[in-house]
Amino acid sequence: MSDAVTVCAAVFGAATAAFLPRVADRLAVPRGTPPRSTCADCAEPYPDWVRAGATCACAGRPVWTVLVGALTATLLGVTIGPTLLLPVLLPAAVLGLLLAMIDLRCRRLPDPLVAALAAGTALPLGAGALIAGEPERLGRAGVAAVLCGAAYLIIALLPGRGLGLGDVKLATVLGFVLGFAGWPAVAAGLAAAHLINGPVALALLLTRRATRDTALPFGPALLAGALIGVTLA
Ligand SMILES: [Zn+2]
Repeated sequence: MSDAVTVCAAVFGAATAAFLPRVADRLAVPRGTPPRSTCADCAEPYPDWVRAGATCACAGRPVWTVLVGALTATLLGVTIGPTLLLPVLLPAAVLGLLLAMIDLRCRRLPDPLVAALAAGTALPLGAGALIAGEPERLGRAGVAAVLCGAAYLIIALLPGRGLGLGDVKLATVLGFVLGFAGWPAVAAGLAAAHLINGPVALALLLTRRATRDTALPFGPALLAGALIGVTLA
C-alpha cells in the first residue's frame, strides 16, 4: 500500500514539476512588472502558461527541476505515507518548488503565490484538525507561525541582513505547517534552513560568485528546511 502511495507521489511530483519552468520564467520578473510575454533568449512570444518540459522550444530540458520535484514528492510519500497530510503537502511542495525557482532567478517571492501556499495549507490542515478533534494542533501551528514570522521580521528589520519581507511572509506560512507537525519539526526546519544557507553563501563568497554585499535568495533554503523539518519529525 505505502509503496504504491510513494510511486504515485513520485509520479505526481515529476509530472507537475515538468510544467513549472514556463510558469517560473514568466513570473520571474522585477516587482511591479507584468509577467514575461516572450522568451528572454529567442524573443519567441509565449502563447500561454502551460508547457510541459523546457521553458521554450529554444531551451534545454528541465532535468533538474523534474528530478527535484520527483525526489521531494518521494520523500514526502515515504515519510508521511498514506495519510490525509499527503494530499495537502504534495501540492504545497510543487508550489514551494515554483517559489524557489522564481526566488533563485529574481530574488522575489510573489505575494499571490505565498498567499496560495498559505491558503492551500492552513485551510485544509486547520479544518482537518478541527474535524479530528485536535484543536490544540491548530493552536500550536498558529503560535509557531506567529513566532517564526516575528523572528524573521526582526532579522529583516536589522540593517544589512538582506532578508526581504517576502522571506518573512514565507517563514510565517512554513512556521504554520511545521507547527502543525510539532515543535521538533519547527526546530529542525529552521535549523536546516540556516545550515543550508550558510555553506551555500560561503561557497558563493569563496568562488567569488558573490560578494559580501550580494543579496542572496533565502526562500529556497527556507523551503528546503521546511521539507526536512516535516519529513524528519
Ligand atoms: Zn526561446
